[in-house]
Amino acid sequence: MPHDKGHAAADQLTQSEERYRALVTATSDVVYRMSPDWKVMSQLDGGSFLLDTGEPIDNWVEKYIHPEDQQKVYEAIEIAIRTKTIFALEHRVLRADGTLGWTFSRAVPLFNEQGEIIEWFGAANDVSARKQTEQDLQDAKDAAEHQKRTYETITSSTPDLIYVFALDYTFSYANEALLAMWGKTWDTAIGKRLIENGYEQWHADMHEREIDQIVATKQSIRGEVAFPHAVLGRRVYDYILNPVLNAQGEVEAVAGTTRDISDIRAAENTLAESEARFRMMAEATNIYIATSDESSNATYFNQSWTKLTGRPQKDLLAYGWVDLLHPDDQERHVKVYEKAFKAHKPLHDAFRVLNSEGEYRWLLIDGFPRNYMDGSFAGFISAGIDITELKEDEQRKNDFISMVSHELKTPLTSALSYVQVSKKRATEANDTVTAGMLERTEKQLGKMTRIINGFLNVSRLESGKIQIDAQRFDMAELMEEVKEEALISNTGHQIKFGYTKSIWVNADREKIAQVIQNFISNAVKYSRPNSTIQVRCKLVDGKAQVCTSDEGIGINHEDLPKLFERFYRVKDSEMRNISGFGIGLYLCNEIIKRHDGDIWAESTVGEGSTFYFTLPTVE
Ligand code: ADP
Repeated sequence: MPHDKGHAAADQLTQSEERYRALVTATSDVVYRMSPDWKVMSQLDGGSFLLDTGEPIDNWVEKYIHPEDQQKVYEAIEIAIRTKTIFALEHRVLRADGTLGWTFSRAVPLFNEQGEIIEWFGAANDVSARKQTEQDLQDAKDAAEHQKRTYETITSSTPDLIYVFALDYTFSYANEALLAMWGKTWDTAIGKRLIENGYEQWHADMHEREIDQIVATKQSIRGEVAFPHAVLGRRVYDYILNPVLNAQGEVEAVAGTTRDISDIRAAENTLAESEARFRMMAEATNIYIATSDESSNATYFNQSWTKLTGRPQKDLLAYGWVDLLHPDDQERHVKVYEKAFKAHKPLHDAFRVLNSEGEYRWLLIDGFPRNYMDGSFAGFISAGIDITELKEDEQRKNDFISMVSHELKTPLTSALSYVQVSKKRATEANDTVTAGMLERTEKQLGKMTRIINGFLNVSRLESGKIQIDAQRFDMAELMEEVKEEALISNTGHQIKFGYTKSIWVNADREKIAQVIQNFISNAVKYSRPNSTIQVRCKLVDGKAQVCTSDEGIGINHEDLPKLFERFYRVKDSEMRNISGFGIGLYLCNEIIKRHDGDIWAESTVGEGSTFYFTLPTVE
């Protein structure tokens, strides 16, 4: 080949290469040259994107290529070399400023005359911005997908109906509950208007008017609508329609939710009906009916109450009614009421109320805790009757008993003293027969005296004349005295007293002794001779507790709480032969109550009974 020609050809090649280079440099961010096997980068003009290489380097892969993409790059190189074709690859690079970027790189092989690759000439573009946009787009898509899944879960798991109307009144969304109600699928229901989804004309018109109104006002609408349901009968729905605004603030759709409130409405109606029925009954009766709420304030008094007191209901509400109670009953009854209230237990009590004529009337009240439908405590309801006449009768009877007892007491006392004197004289005259008869007479008179004293005590108690003379004493000593007396007077039973440690109380010593004696004499009275009676006093829960147990006839479960009522006696064939008036335990109860103690009985019929009382202790 002539030198000149060769030279010209080389020049031509250089020129064309330079032109090409200029073009590439103008259109690319990076240009590079590589050895035929890509091992050495002979030159890199990285623009401001990649660091330039002044000298050839063989570690360009580690220097510029992201570790995770290196393998990919090697593979692409291998293919390009093998096939002697263009290398083209998008991969991550380490940028000049140290951050990570994306590049799209292409390299062409340059051949010698033998067709061997003498060099690779490459150009690359920074595509980081596009990649970032693609990534952002993907992230946004993922977030939207996630949000869509969340909303779908919400809308498909609620029994409420959720839907969206386009402005042409067609449904653009309906949740599963709504599709199920229509009995339609998404494809057959979406894009359809109300009328096409089975709504009656009036109903469809109503909602379409509402859509117009929302578009015009941008305000939401709430309403209630009732219509018959094919399967469920008449249903009532509460719905709310909301404007969906676009970026310009214009309504672009109307979203709605609808809730089936038929059951709530039905329950409300039932409640209102039963409330009305209750009011009617309460107003029509002459029983005194009142209710209170869970905080013990009275909330209702029927007409009987307002008629009796001559006061409007509002004067009686909350604790207003207490002002009308007799001063002697106020504190006591409020205590009874509040105690029952706190314990959620029924109450049974009598008190006097001032009527419109300025007289006191006796009311007997039964109160019961009442509950809300869920079972939680709602307050009390009480029913009362006027027992003034009964009380007056009772008073007359009491007066009579008290008078008779008084009148009997004087002759009885003198009869007793005559008998005692006569007995003494008969004994002195060694007339044992007469002395024996007088002895028995004395015992009978003693019995009579005790009965009469009992009556006197009751009438004293009723007229409030019973006095508690409290003193500090040791129960152990009292038990010792009671024991001695019981052992002397008793012959027929095995009375066993437990050991008593010293327990100090502040009480009426004589009356407490009377209570214990009463327990013992009942135990004797209601059990067979020779059976065992146990008497014990001990400290239980910080209180002095006295109990007597017998092996007698026992008491029915239903009778147990009534034993302490006045004149109450168990009606039983076994009881017929045992005399008594049913006042002993009543007196015991009154005495213990006045000491802030408790009194009760436990029993099994045929096995025996145990009577208890407790007293507060002192240091
Ligand atoms: P009385 O014994 O005079 O009838 P109480 O008030 O002492 O009056 O007792 C009331 C009723 O309680 C008695 O009538 C009897 O039915 C019953 N009772 C009292 N103590 C016992 C007991 N230990 N065992 C069985 N029943 C008893």
